[in-house]
Amino acid sequence: MVYPIVKYGNPVLEREAETVTEFDTPELHKFLDDMFESMYAAKGVGLAAPQIGISRKIAVIDCSNGENPEEKLVLINPSIVKIEGKQEGEEGCLSIPGFREQVRRGKRVTARAQNAKGEEIEIVGEDLLARALLHETDHLYGRLYITHISALKRDLMKRKIKKLMKAGEW
Ligand SMILES: [Zn+2]
Repeated sequence: MVYPIVKYGNPVLEREAETVTEFDTPELHKFLDDMFESMYAAKGVGLAAPQIGISRKIAVIDCSNGENPEEKLVLINPSIVKIEGKQEGEEGCLSIPGFREQVRRGKRVTARAQNAKGEEIEIVGEDLLARALLHETDHLYGRLYITHISALKRDLMKRKIKKLMKAGEW
């Protein structure tokens, strides 16, 4: 099932999601399948559950855009434990369509999380994967990438979004 993507302005995107406590249930496996399906349908490389209106600490990532099953990652209750180096690059978000901004992120990132079975996993990512790990983990704590850009750029973006909302185009 493909869920519609929740857009900026919906409070679910700006609050910390609930910790997952039940693992390996048919419901969880179905939900993860739906998250991948929703992410591919929206052409994203990552998706966090709050982006489909579900406030649970679950994110999926696939930097291969569905080309390589080995790159499919499930992160449940993730936390970032190490950030090394820096990278500059453009970043966007499925929940803030039509906008992209330069965001400085760590170049190499270590995340700890649980998988669908509840087992502890550690993921080390560089470049795009590092960016995705940071971006999606942020989502689960109610932080959007626009919190990492200047206040000036953020205000400009918010004003544009407000206009779109008024015009019924958001
Ligand atoms: Zn996002």
